[in-house]
Amino acid sequence: MINIKYLSPIFIILLILISGAKQVENELKPDDVKLNGKMVCLSEEMHQHYKLELTDDHEHLYGIKSEDGKYYTLLRTSLSEALFIDKRLHEKVLVVKGRVFPKSNLLEVMSFMSIKDGVLYEIYYYCDTCYIRTVAPGNCDCCQAPVVLIEKPLNSDSLIPSP
Ligand SMILES: [Zn+2]
Ligand SMILES: [Zn+2]
Repeated sequence: MINIKYLSPIFIILLILISGAKQVENELKPDDVKLNGKMVCLSEEMHQHYKLELTDDHEHLYGIKSEDGKYYTLLRTSLSEALFIDKRLHEKVLVVKGRVFPKSNLLEVMSFMSIKDGVLYEIYYYCDTCYIRTVAPGNCDCCQAPVVLIEKPLNSDSLIPSP
């Protein structure tokens, strides 16, 4: 006969393990995304489409409107900083790679490029005195001169459209 006293702790441990594994499985993870779109002020977009109240001196709420019409709220990090402060980037069609967080449309930018006539362009800032490359506009860390925006076509390999 099986002794229940010895069996039950094993069952309890098994139950804990199973429920633990289930919890990990259910834990929500950010979605990796790659999207084409343009920088927009989300408040202005919502004003235009849904009559959101808007003042001329409102603080812009920046986001990306993807080519398929979805809006993503842009989180400000060192990698996305340039998109907030360099208005020249607002004119470009961007190819953005990043993460969208669970139950939200909050977008963390990991990298971005621009695309023009099917050609991808690398975007970065550069000090040609010190040969230093940065991800955001501002003054060079080394010589303090302002860095310049560089938009450089990627090599021809990257022109092959991804499936
Ligand atoms: Zn605005
Ligand atoms: Zn410099």
